[in-house]
Amino acid sequence: MKFLVFLEHYHGELEKGGLGVLSKAASLGEAAGVVLGPEAREVAGGAGAYGASTVYVSEDEAFASPLPQPRVDALAALVGQTSPDAVPFGASVLASDVAAGLAARVGAGLNWDLTDLVLEGDELVGKRPALGDTVLVDVGWTGAPRIALVRAGALDPVESGGSATVEDFEVGFSDFSTLATLVEQTQEESSGPSIEDADVIVAGGRGLGSPEAFSLCEQLASALGGAVGATRAVVDAGWYPYSTQVGQTGKTVSPRLYVACGISGAIQHKVGMQGSGTIVAINKDPNAPIFDFCDLGVVGDLHQVVPKLTELVRARRGDH
Ligand SMILES: Cc1cc2nc3c(=O)[nH]c(=O)nc-3n(C[C@H](O)[C@H](O)[C@H](O)COP(=O)(O)OP(=O)(O)OC[C@H]3O[C@@H](n4cnc5c(N)ncnc54)[C@H](O)[C@@H]3O)c2cc1C
Repeated sequence: MKFLVFLEHYHGELEKGGLGVLSKAASLGEAAGVVLGPEAREVAGGAGAYGASTVYVSEDEAFASPLPQPRVDALAALVGQTSPDAVPFGASVLASDVAAGLAARVGAGLNWDLTDLVLEGDELVGKRPALGDTVLVDVGWTGAPRIALVRAGALDPVESGGSATVEDFEVGFSDFSTLATLVEQTQEESSGPSIEDADVIVAGGRGLGSPEAFSLCEQLASALGGAVGATRAVVDAGWYPYSTQVGQTGKTVSPRLYVACGISGAIQHKVGMQGSGTIVAINKDPNAPIFDFCDLGVVGDLHQVVPKLTELVRARRGDH
């Protein structure tokens, strides 16, 4: 099976989401990548280490802004030239737009929110959580190219140590594709690792009792060198930013350590963090659902447990 994987890059590095999808594609067949925009040529070679045999690049000015339509033109051209069986994307705002545009342009089927791709015989099958993530269903395509959007964080990049041939290609743009311009782009200021990249996440829920109490999570996260996550309940209440929301309608994370403070463990939260290495839960209710799937549970008031834990971590690390 031949795959063409859309790879995004940012600040001179290929994004993890696309690389995870590339690694999976390479494990199932022959994988090529496509990198578009400034510095594409510079970063493209790195995809070889994740299984790409060829990476198609274009640094055309039309790709300078993160707008979807010129990228749809580029992918449609490559689909025409290379006839891939499948075009998978790691989900992002841009990738979702490009995947949908490509599906419409080439008349292909798009399956989205997939958490895995497998081969059953010669056929590609997508795994898609359904019914509030309580069941996993198999989805397929009736024709090629099979376009797939894989849920952010669902597939980990795996280095295989290979190298890729980097090939320039020409893109002809449709008149309407270059009409939109980017008026403004702003960036959220944050310090420390993002929750997608963090090895340790300390997440807070409604049990914190107030937005101010998030400082308890921040201090523990800082002592552990991690990032702070949140449940939808507290994000909806305006206690913490949406960018930190973990779960079905937030991010899927898989840190080595996930410390849940005052979080009940609702299924919609669980689906976003159940892939974590070790889950520690601090909750005053011994019957909280999170105790059914955590590795270590502490029954107690987080306002007492978390500061004590932070103090102990700091003491162990030698900083006070
Ligand atoms: C379609 C849909 C999508 C959703 N998507 C998401 C999502 O992406 N992410 C998400 O998180 N949720 C999501 N939800 C919401 C989800 O169902 C839960 O409502 C939410 O996760 C609960 O958040 P919580 O654990 O912070 O609050 P609660 O369920 O209210 O739990 C608070 C916990 O804190 C404990 N507690 C209280 N005081 C203390 C204390 N002093 N010390 C220790 N423990 C204490 C309580 O015992 C309780 O277990 C979604 C829901 C729907 C319907």
